[in-house]
Amino acid sequence: MATLQPVRGTHDLLPDDTRRFRHVVETGRQSAERAGYDEIATPIFEFSEVFKRTLGDTSDIVTKEMYSFTDKGGDDITLRPEGTAGVVRAVISGGLAQHVPLKYFYAGPMFRYERPQKGRQRQFHQIGVELIGVGEPLGDVEVIGLGAATLDALGIGARCTLEINSLGNAASRAAYRTRLVTYLGDHRAALSDDSRVRLERNPLRVLDSKDPRDRQIVAGAPVLVDSLDPESAEFFAAVRAGLDALGIAYRVNPHIVRGLDYYCHTAFEFTTEALGAQGTVLAGGRYDGLVQQMGGPAIPGVGWAAGIERLAMLVADTPPARRPVAVVPVGEAAEREALRIAARLRAAGLRVDLGYRGNLARRMKQANRVNAAHAVILGDDEIAAGAATVRDLDSGTQARVALADLAAHLLKP
Ligand code: ATP
Ligand code: MG
Repeated sequence: MATLQPVRGTHDLLPDDTRRFRHVVETGRQSAERAGYDEIATPIFEFSEVFKRTLGDTSDIVTKEMYSFTDKGGDDITLRPEGTAGVVRAVISGGLAQHVPLKYFYAGPMFRYERPQKGRQRQFHQIGVELIGVGEPLGDVEVIGLGAATLDALGIGARCTLEINSLGNAASRAAYRTRLVTYLGDHRAALSDDSRVRLERNPLRVLDSKDPRDRQIVAGAPVLVDSLDPESAEFFAAVRAGLDALGIAYRVNPHIVRGLDYYCHTAFEFTTEALGAQGTVLAGGRYDGLVQQMGGPAIPGVGWAAGIERLAMLVADTPPARRPVAVVPVGEAAEREALRIAARLRAAGLRVDLGYRGNLARRMKQANRVNAAHAVILGDDEIAAGAATVRDLDSGTQARVALADLAAHLLKP
């Protein structure tokens, strides 16, 4: 057996990474909270049916990327590849649909069997929002605005570009599909194998292909925004007017179709040049047919998801780890006292690192290793006096402080 390795496409998050991740998640959560969105957490696995019904049998996710297995009870289970399906399942099974509008934020791991590369893992993480029960374009604008606000709060908004498209209503898509199939049919021979299959099963998805040959053909294809019926065109105009009112810049990109089947009207992506090939950081759209398709009432929805790894790579400076206070006992009696002092300082809200072993020099070295701001040195003299020596490890100055005043002294800015 080979030595134990992480599974391909998975990563350990070490403390620097988790701090970065937490910063991204907390920033997203805070932006969402300010917009009136509360957090929801659904299980990371669901019955496979949940994803098959929502993502459609022809999507890349369902056909190639799902981690599915039969569990010991014989149920067909899938690790979630994305967040929307589970949220909608929760809305239906929890009877939440009667309380619309529902406004949710979520964060957590997702699983897709893809070829790992920079910015593309098999276990990755997303933050996302869903606004369920709002069919007005104002909902799309708010959701996109929340995406923009989150990127701005992370300090990366200026490096991201918003691209939007409209997939229109069902009638517009049907009309467009006919035009597209005619066009792609004429170029059938030059399409990639995957896209020839897509042409049969879900031609719109050819627009999403990353294959260079396909891209060349797609560049000359008719575009959906030209096929919008009056209702769809009006909806799209209202979304753009809302973005204009918010001062959010965007470019209409007629080739954004989103990888999933249930999207209509608005589709959007925030992309960046800074991450190479994996340039989409935040993507979403409107999914009016989804709740009903999953067996719930006919209520509309709109939302987005963003890859935490990709966001974290863009964030330049993450908050540093909080510097601890090092409690440095010298001698056995002092060690016991140090335990009590550390507990008291922690209860007062300080981060405290206790030196476990060695002489004074060794423990001071440990204090420097953990980047402590202060060392609280406790020897027999100090204990006898009911005090400790507090050394400022940056300036080297030290002072004797009564134990009763220790927390207040260390909490002083
Ligand atoms: P891509 O075109 O990059 O495959 P997608 O259309 O499959 O993206 P979505 O399903 O819209 O992506 O997911 C939203 C976001 O989640 C993406 O924009 C990206 O930031 C992130 N994401 C998706 N798949 C992965 C992955 N395998 N590894 C890391 N991040 C991912
Ligand atoms: Mg993908």
